[in-house]
Amino acid sequence: MQPEQLISQRCRMVDASGIRKVFDLAAKLSDPINLSIGQPDFDVPEPVKAEAIEAIRSGFNSYTQTQGIAPLREAIAGRLTREHGWREPSVLITSGVSGGLMLAFMAMLNPGDEVLVPDPYFVMYKHLVNLVGARPVMVDTYPDFRLDPDRFAARVSPRTKLLLLNSPSNPTGNLASADELTGILALADKHGLLVISDEIYCEFCYDGPYQSAAAGGRDDILLLGGFSKTYGMTGWRMGYAAGPRAIIEQMTKLQQYTFVCAPSMVQRAGLAALETDMGEHVAAYRRKRDIIYDGLKDAFEVMRPGGAFYIFPKAPGGRATPFVEKAIAGNVLIIPGSVFSDRDTHFRISFATSDEKLRAGAEVLCKLVGET
Ligand code: PMP
Repeated sequence: MQPEQLISQRCRMVDASGIRKVFDLAAKLSDPINLSIGQPDFDVPEPVKAEAIEAIRSGFNSYTQTQGIAPLREAIAGRLTREHGWREPSVLITSGVSGGLMLAFMAMLNPGDEVLVPDPYFVMYKHLVNLVGARPVMVDTYPDFRLDPDRFAARVSPRTKLLLLNSPSNPTGNLASADELTGILALADKHGLLVISDEIYCEFCYDGPYQSAAAGGRDDILLLGGFSKTYGMTGWRMGYAAGPRAIIEQMTKLQQYTFVCAPSMVQRAGLAALETDMGEHVAAYRRKRDIIYDGLKDAFEVMRPGGAFYIFPKAPGGRATPFVEKAIAGNVLIIPGSVFSDRDTHFRISFATSDEKLRAGAEVLCKLVGET
């Protein structure tokens, strides 16, 4: 058989062409204003690096227990108890939130099962749900990206099993309010759906305290938490999952035969990370949010993001791809909404870059509006 003929149906369902097109165009630019990168522009804090190096030097280089080292799981469980009132949280250390998502879907979804996903969405959700043979069912949240329980209710079917939340959101930066979360959780209860709450951006929250879906001790949800964004550790591959014991047990069983464990030295460094105050970086990102929002708001229809490091303006005339192509020709890298959505009306900017680049990028984009 030819290698092409060996490719599975499952693999054929994953289409990475949207984002690849942007990167192909970008590769031709020499010094672009890159507003496309989905990771912080700061480095891992020194004490966290030191702990990882010390762990390696002292020989902490073997497999760990599948579920992760006890001190780290206990530190995370302690936080969940303190912050949300969870009594005895079951915690699994995963290989990033990506690993947690994969295990959760494999543990719970049968072929044909449906997952409600607010649109716009983090693109991995759609592909991972498809990979396990289930069906992502998009719930349109335009134009303000609010979570309206009626819109979710309209998409529930007898096959619906899970409901995904992601606040603050990639790609919109939108934060769900306490009222929105209450409404969505009530809807999930009514239809017997499990809520998966991807809270990887929870530390990047700019205008008040963070509202978790787990607030008030809702320990019947599956909470996915990360280290990648908060501590600039995207390459270190660690996150965690917390939720109902029966589900965490199954995810742990699957981790044993897939990822095995999160990297040992990163788990040790994770303990140091949890002790590290990232307040200064968050304050810098609040300022960046203001720079980009103020730079765009007069020329674009745009929501002011309350969290994460993304902003999702509407393209002129609601036609994102041609606008993105023009922006790239003008040396500014942005990503068309179709990569994150069933619509191609908006575009994503990551403001995890220098203030100068943000100002320069906003200026170019505003000028382009005049030309379209
Ligand atoms: N969830 C969201 C919403 C993300 O934006 C990302 C990273 N882009 C992830 C999960 C994956 O993060 P990790 O590095 O922890 O796998």
